[in-house]
Amino acid sequence: MTEKRKRIAIVGGNFAGLTAAIKLSRRHAVTVIDPSKHFEWMPNIHEVLSSVKTPQGLRLDRAAIVKQAGHRFLRDRVTVLQPAQCRLATAGGRELNFDACIVAVGALWNTHHVPGVARHAMPFRSVADGLAIKQRLHTLVQQGKPLRIVIAGGGISGIEALGEILRRHRDDANLSVEVVEAGARLLPGMAPALDADLRRLCEPYAVKFRTGTTIASVSAKGVRLADGTRLRSELTLWTAGLAPPALLREAGLSRPPQAWADVHQTLQSRHFDNTFVVGDAAQMPRPVAKQAYNAIDMGALAAANVARFLRGRALKPFRPAPKPVLIAFGDLQTYLVAGRTVVASKALAGAKEGVYQVFMAQMTPGNVLTSLPAAAGRLWQSWRQLALPQLLSLADFRKLPDLRAISLL
Ligand SMILES: Cc1cc2nc3c(=O)[nH]c(=O)nc-3n(C[C@H](O)[C@H](O)[C@H](O)COP(=O)(O)OP(=O)(O)OC[C@H]3O[C@@H](n4cnc5c(N)ncnc54)[C@H](O)[C@@H]3O)c2cc1C
Repeated sequence: MTEKRKRIAIVGGNFAGLTAAIKLSRRHAVTVIDPSKHFEWMPNIHEVLSSVKTPQGLRLDRAAIVKQAGHRFLRDRVTVLQPAQCRLATAGGRELNFDACIVAVGALWNTHHVPGVARHAMPFRSVADGLAIKQRLHTLVQQGKPLRIVIAGGGISGIEALGEILRRHRDDANLSVEVVEAGARLLPGMAPALDADLRRLCEPYAVKFRTGTTIASVSAKGVRLADGTRLRSELTLWTAGLAPPALLREAGLSRPPQAWADVHQTLQSRHFDNTFVVGDAAQMPRPVAKQAYNAIDMGALAAANVARFLRGRALKPFRPAPKPVLIAFGDLQTYLVAGRTVVASKALAGAKEGVYQVFMAQMTPGNVLTSLPAAAGRLWQSWRQLALPQLLSLADFRKLPDLRAISLL
């Protein structure tokens, strides 16, 4: 008699959830549930603002990827998750029982309960958000209105958005940008030299940085800072922080005051053995950066551990691989940050593009014959435009004319 296939539900199918699905074998009955049609490559969404990337270039058909992995996709939102009862329910009225569950619901934008943010500020967490911001900029330019922009948050998202706004609009006499960051410097938590370098690059433009400053409220006309200063803005972009989805608390995966789902080093929930939480939603015993590369690695480990759990085997711990971070600043600069070591070169944009190209090519559904031409075309274009081949040779890399180490260990 054949053994009944174990049922695994994956809630959320972007970086962490989709990776887990792809890694899980067809011996399991896997269902991926996500309300959105497309997988989205977030690390390059800032380029939508300057039209360097199109929405299509950053999206892949989620159902096709899941189908190719041999699993089932439900386009729906999980509204009730009850790990103890091994069941979930969706907004579309479906009910699903499972033997084990992988929760990969990511993070939400964090308004920090500042009055007016939800109504008047624009979020920047998806391709659709990027498109809405681009369209708003376009409308303001068409109407010949002042292009006064406030960017709330001087972290990676805010800085990358600023870079693309400068790439596209820096010659517009109407443009002025204020970046408001609560921390003492730009890119908090990273090498201080980055802050200095970004300020130097922005000197020729109408960009002002206000660090150590918080926003008290946002209105249709602009923002009011905590010290009472008012900044006029036609566009307020809110990139200040992440918030955990309510589902984590409602499912009992997080317990106050901890709002992210607390997991063991194996990614198994601290509260339910049959549930694993991965990606941005997870709170590790030793916190890791909420970044796509960690979400991908966590998704892969969760797939292996869930299979081990279902066979009663010992689980393996998550060991985050230290990876350098690439921060794009439009066409003005790209930084490669590895701890306290930072190197800067415009040609590093090719490396960021290369990561995107390779990942998208790997994820594109279809067989080698059907997906290769599109992938090869994208890669070839990138190699020609962004000097990627130079980055593949260390000798050539050292010869890059503008390569600078701006901070070393
Ligand atoms: C502007 C920006 C720039 C970034 N740049 C970089 C970068 O350069 N490098 C890097 O490594 N990382 C970067 N990141 C971070 C990276 O995108 C995240 O760490 C990564 O997306 C986390 O992956 P995840 O799978 O945990 O969550 P997500 O990618 O957020 O996916 C969560 C999925 O869960 C689904 N979902 C949510 N709720 C439910 C529900 N109730 N039911 C079913 N499905 C649900 C969502 O629809 C979504 O598809 C950036 C993020 C942003 C916003």
